[in-house]
Amino acid sequence: MLTFAPLMKKGESFGKEFLIPFGGEKLGKHPHDFEIGKAFFDSGISEVEVLNAAINLLFILEKQSAMLTLHFNFDGTITVPCDRCNAPVEIPIQSSEKLYVKFSQGGFDTTDEVITIADSESHIDLGPYVYEFIWLALPMKFVHDEGECDQDVIDQLEHYNPDDEDDNIDPRWDALKNLK
Ligand SMILES: [Zn+2]
Repeated sequence: MLTFAPLMKKGESFGKEFLIPFGGEKLGKHPHDFEIGKAFFDSGISEVEVLNAAINLLFILEKQSAMLTLHFNFDGTITVPCDRCNAPVEIPIQSSEKLYVKFSQGGFDTTDEVITIADSESHIDLGPYVYEFIWLALPMKFVHDEGECDQDVIDQLEHYNPDDEDDNIDPRWDALKNLK
């Protein structure tokens, strides 16, 4: 499930605002609000060009005596090029995710839902997890609703790439037809 976050090098940050202190916090819930805009996606990790983003993240750090629970609630939209016509398409994002943080003096046993960090740490960098969760919340394909694509572009694509369309008949298929 988590594919980007573990790959990121330490210090490869999405911004200092995502560095959440927990060392000095009291036990209980500590909410943080984030507005995630286009700049967040300018790191270049993604192959998809993000044209715009307006995502509200309500993050709650829940500090327990021996662990942390991180609650993420995303609500907003991200605008990306349509896979079909390349015009901007706005994709809604609504998701809730949870991560558990355990502390260790060694042995970093990280799974999809549990991350282990050194007990000497006093901050956690949410950036990679925020990034990961946003991508998980998105559909596999970015396309306009039926009939809402830029028809001029569709026409041009069909004009310049006629081979991709129905008129590309496999010659072997012709040969089969002739057998009848
Ligand atoms: Zn489209």
